[in-house]
Amino acid sequence: MRLDSFIRINTEQSHKSVRQLLAKDRIRVNGAITQNRHHPVTDFCHVQVDGITLQNRTAIYLMLHKPAGYLSATQDAHQPTVMELIDKDIQAQLHIGGRLDKDSTGLLLLTNDGNWSRRITDPGLKKPKRYLVETQDAITTEYATAFEQGVYLEPEALTTQPAQLERLEPRKARLTIYEGRYHQVKRIFGAFDNRVVKLHRESMGPIELDPKLRPGEWRPLTATEIESV
Ligand code: URA
Repeated sequence: MRLDSFIRINTEQSHKSVRQLLAKDRIRVNGAITQNRHHPVTDFCHVQVDGITLQNRTAIYLMLHKPAGYLSATQDAHQPTVMELIDKDIQAQLHIGGRLDKDSTGLLLLTNDGNWSRRITDPGLKKPKRYLVETQDAITTEYATAFEQGVYLEPEALTTQPAQLERLEPRKARLTIYEGRYHQVKRIFGAFDNRVVKLHRESMGPIELDPKLRPGEWRPLTATEIESV
């Protein structure tokens, strides 16, 4: 939003008085005086008029090593959610950037910055998501070809984006997909009638799960990780 619109909405000042406030150096954005009425105001800008703060939210970005048995949801009446693993004073502000099933483990990103999480989850942006998969039956060589060509998903009437499969052991593989459709990994293995028995997310876009985090532990993202998205 533009600075002049932001001030008008948040102070109920007229168009003219906002211009005067700007001209008289009474408005600061992120600590610096500005006279530019077009200055962009994002959700996390610190905006002050005459030293009074109109907005000062801190952006939060976390990675959690999700353990099995927790729902990727902000709340649930019956089952534990991943939010219960996060400090109480910040959990209410956060949303999940790319869910994992209750039985899945690995990298989960949590933030209060919707623009940032969209950049990693928007299927149109085709950010890679890498998983370790263990299956009930053997993974044959046809799987890699089929996943590369895309698997037709009946309910959505669409074919998945090309995905890469690297077979590690007869029933274990590393899979990279570029969307995050509902139960996508389980469903594309399901096309071969093969059940996924373990699913672990190693990375999302440029962000890798920190190997130092044990299941249930989290840490703030580094500035480099935040900027990499
Ligand atoms: N695909 C699935 O089927 N489950 C997950 O948790 C993540 C991707």
